[in-house]
Amino acid sequence: MTPQMTPLAKILIERITDTGPITLADYMAECLLHPKHGYYSTRDPFGADGDFTTSPEISQMFGELLGLCLAQTWLQQGSPTEFVLAELGPGRGTLMADVLRATKGVAGFHAAAQITLVEASAALQKIQRECLSDYDVTWVGTIGEVSDAPLYLLANEFFDALPIHQYIMDADGWRERLVGVTDGELAFGASGVGDVPPLNHRRKDCRDGDLVEVCGAATAIATEIAARIAAFGGVAIIVDYGDWRSLGDTVQALRSHEFDTPLAHPGEADITAHVDFEALAVAAVTHTPVSKMIGQGELLQRLGIDQRTEALAQGLSGTALEAHTTAHRRLTDPTEMGTLFKAIAFYPNGHQPPPGFTP
Ligand code: SAH
Repeated sequence: MTPQMTPLAKILIERITDTGPITLADYMAECLLHPKHGYYSTRDPFGADGDFTTSPEISQMFGELLGLCLAQTWLQQGSPTEFVLAELGPGRGTLMADVLRATKGVAGFHAAAQITLVEASAALQKIQRECLSDYDVTWVGTIGEVSDAPLYLLANEFFDALPIHQYIMDADGWRERLVGVTDGELAFGASGVGDVPPLNHRRKDCRDGDLVEVCGAATAIATEIAARIAAFGGVAIIVDYGDWRSLGDTVQALRSHEFDTPLAHPGEADITAHVDFEALAVAAVTHTPVSKMIGQGELLQRLGIDQRTEALAQGLSGTALEAHTTAHRRLTDPTEMGTLFKAIAFYPNGHQPPPGFTP
């Protein structure tokens, strides 16, 4: 055993030695949400002192613009007098706080909103409680537990944290990538060849040896959200890093803002994978129309981030103004988060896509 081995590495090595290799999805799930040693269960990973920074932590404008987009959609749908204002994986609660501040002036919106946060980590739930102490908030563990009502939902960098399976194409089927133990350390291996029905359509565009990723948890959640919007109305806006249709290994580990290898520090590095927006759209479209996928920069620009940046800049000077200008660039520029991050929306039949998503 190497001296730096994390407590979770020891637990997983013992388990794998006893009962055999585990899937990458099981490995990711343990790394992120193991009750005692999971990455999200044990820390606040966001910001300059953490391992990564997300859009709402970069600037208040992100949440303000998305909040107004939700409120505008609510108005366009006849202002339902009771609805669920939900966020998946709210991190520190910053995005929801910005949404609520920006929508304060929208008559009737707050009174009708049942604020619901879907959060698996007790440690982050505590931070969210402090951040949103002025509001009446309900916490649930899964989307299936939110009330049956029109659903206005945001998810930023939630789907990238869901466990994925990886499969490698073989002439006779697919091999699943597994995590095993070699010479006392965690190591990647592969299963025998088998059929993977959700990948039947990929046999045409893949070649032997190609690796594809499947996130069953993501498609199940996208299906549930869309079914609720079809039944009760509302809208879902999903923002994340990724692209249309996955090809290749996109699993990434980040520790103190530096890339790490995914098996090096289980429980102490953030592990994510690119979101396959095609898979989300295919899961949703049986229930609701789905917008075109667009870049985060384009969406924020259509929602007015340039004007909002100017307006906020009026009250700033010196380093604060510099930081504000940098934040605008980070959120929108194609060399930063502007095109790597994408957005997609699910909305009810017979309606237009929400503002910013209209073709
Ligand atoms: N949306 C936030 C945080 C993104 S990090 C932001 O933009 O800053 C991912 C978040 O999803 C964390 O709050 C994490 O605890 C939560 N999370 C991860 N897996 C989850 C799951 N399966 N169910 C519910 N929440 C989950």
